[in-house]
Amino acid sequence: MTQLFISDLHLDPARPEAIEAFKELLATEAREAERLYILGDLFEAWIGDDDDTPLADEVAAALQDLHQHGTSCYFINGNRDFLLNRPFATRAGMHLLPEIALVDLGGKRTALMHGDLLCTDDTDYMRLRKIVNNKLFQSLFQALPLGTRRKIAEAARARSMASHGDKPEYIMDVAAATVERVFRTYEITQMIHGHTHRPDVHEFTIDDQPMRRIVLGDWYEQASVLRWNEDDFSLDAITL
Ligand code: MN
Repeated sequence: MTQLFISDLHLDPARPEAIEAFKELLATEAREAERLYILGDLFEAWIGDDDDTPLADEVAAALQDLHQHGTSCYFINGNRDFLLNRPFATRAGMHLLPEIALVDLGGKRTALMHGDLLCTDDTDYMRLRKIVNNKLFQSLFQALPLGTRRKIAEAARARSMASHGDKPEYIMDVAAATVERVFRTYEITQMIHGHTHRPDVHEFTIDDQPMRRIVLGDWYEQASVLRWNEDDFSLDAITL
């Protein structure tokens, strides 16, 4: 049975082609699959599960439809949709997973994650991550009216885009030492993540043992889908 992995769709009303491609995937190939894993940043921005935008309803309905067809869908929060929680997951028929989820894939102990926690060279981001993952911060933010939250989210996005411009490329990628530490800590031989928007399959060794890190791509220019079938996989780019 096939398992599908996607991340970094960054769904936004401004890019209807990505929304259409996602709905198409849910209505076709994903229905034939056993599982669909969404490894974060499904949405470009998420201000709370009470958000009443049409996009949230549309995506929840499409995911719920997939659930009704018998495919299990799993979600790990990304840095854009860290506020996505149980109410939306229930509406969408998705299971929420912790920030690092362990699964068996083709006999390999595999960790699934969004990937932002591997980017430890970006110290500004790591500091921000600590704040936004704080439960008190989250509940205070979610107590604000929707309009205020929308304005704050827009300002945060503008600031993040401006700061990305001045950072060297390597800082935005995973830190090799952190990757190795996660492989050792969780005793895994394989990892799947997104976030960096650098789709690739990295094969390397730790203590002479073969390791693999699969990086999913974003859905800006193309859609990136990892298809896993028994012991075989392909990381594919699909035209939007
Ligand atoms: Mn991300």
